Amino acid sequence: MKEDCIFCKIINNEIPSTKVYEDDTLIAFNDINPIAPVHILVVPKVHVENLMELEDNELLVHIVEVIKQIAKEQGIDKEGFRVVTNNGENAGQEVKHLHFHILGGKKLGVN
Ligand code: AMP
Ligand code: ZN
Repeated sequence: MKEDCIFCKIINNEIPSTKVYEDDTLIAFNDINPIAPVHILVVPKVHVENLMELEDNELLVHIVEVIKQIAKEQGIDKEGFRVVTNNGENAGQEVKHLHFHILGGKKLGVN
């Protein structure tokens, strides 16, 4: 838990979110400013800034498994979806707590 981290606050239920999945190690909730019909953020409960700080490969595998499960539950697994994680400044990372965007439900642009 890092003070002033918005995703840590969501994990601690200090800020509301629309949860779609939760277990001991991660949480997934709807993005507050969706850019696609399905826009879900998958967030590990441990506070690491981005992929460069993540050393727990087991957790990474678990994140991928949960992403696939959510894609099925949301009905976007067959038609396709995108997974994005922004790392650092050039990627435009706004929230400095590792998260994976799941984007789907429409034909996505090349960017
Ligand atoms: P990024 O640029 O990858 O850091 O994206 C951060 C994402 O977090 C953006 O898509 C925001 O819309 C989303 N976001 C910020 N605050 C909240 C919140 N309180 N609940 C849900 N999503 C949020
Ligand atoms: Zn955090």
